[in-house]
Amino acid sequence: MTFNKKLKGRKQIKFTDHARIEMAKDDIRADEVLKAIENGEVIEDYVDDRPFPSCLLYGKSDEKPIHVVCALPQHVNMLINCLYTGPEEMDRLREEEEMRAGKCPICGGDTKEGTVEVQEMIEGAAYIIKGVKAEVCVQCGERMYSLDEMRRIEKVREKIKNRMITPIEVRKVAVVSL
Ligand SMILES: [Zn+2]
Repeated sequence: MTFNKKLKGRKQIKFTDHARIEMAKDDIRADEVLKAIENGEVIEDYVDDRPFPSCLLYGKSDEKPIHVVCALPQHVNMLINCLYTGPEEMDRLREEEEMRAGKCPICGGDTKEGTVEVQEMIEGAAYIIKGVKAEVCVQCGERMYSLDEMRRIEKVREKIKNRMITPIEVRKVAVVSL
């Protein structure tokens, strides 16, 4: 299992929109995911996954069990680069480079930085958080949020729960049936 070592101590992590939604549902914070990755184990790897190899990791944050699917863009061409420098250093450089280049972990398309709105369900009510920085895939529309941005979203969720924030506008939502 070569994945295990590669996942530890990662500074450059991005969360997909799907991850954000699942995390909110289960009340899992970005830092808990980091903790689970640090003390967890890869239980399945999907080396042939496209566009990037990925794996399923199981770990715990305190007592909370967390499963994480991680895609590893830097794994591509890793063998070639290992010939020139230590694999870990090359992984780090390659990871930084690919993070800058901005590739979508879902389809491999290019991503563009933008400002988006995200919808959060909090105690049965829908809230829209404006001004969220994201990388958006030009091909499939997947969004990725940085660790800092995830923490900012979580802080706003907390404020909404504690009634410490006033909406800047209220929109109507129409519901119809099929
Ligand atoms: Zn995509």
